[in-house]
Amino acid sequence: MLRINLKDHLNKKGVLEPKSASIFNFIEFISLLVAASTSKHFKRFNPSCFSCGSHVTSIITLAERMIVWQCNRCEKEGIISHWHGTLWDMSNKENKLNS
Ligand SMILES: [Zn+2]
Repeated sequence: MLRINLKDHLNKKGVLEPKSASIFNFIEFISLLVAASTSKHFKRFNPSCFSCGSHVTSIITLAERMIVWQCNRCEKEGIISHWHGTLWDMSNKENKLNS
């Protein structure tokens, strides 16, 4: 289980700044997954698995605190926390657009 606090990998402007260059692809995958998971419109555009390129499914858990994801092929899985209010959190942005 890969546990990620998204805010650990953002700079002060809220832009992706992974703690090490070697995990950039993984953190980029995580950020796109947050956007897909929190968007009503782009749900079907979940990014491909950072490891094997296969289909990934994701859900938002109780009280929308965590995003849990799993790859259907290589069975990598993880939990994303602290994604609220980041650039990739689409939940509030779409509500504002619709109202
Ligand atoms: Zn995979």
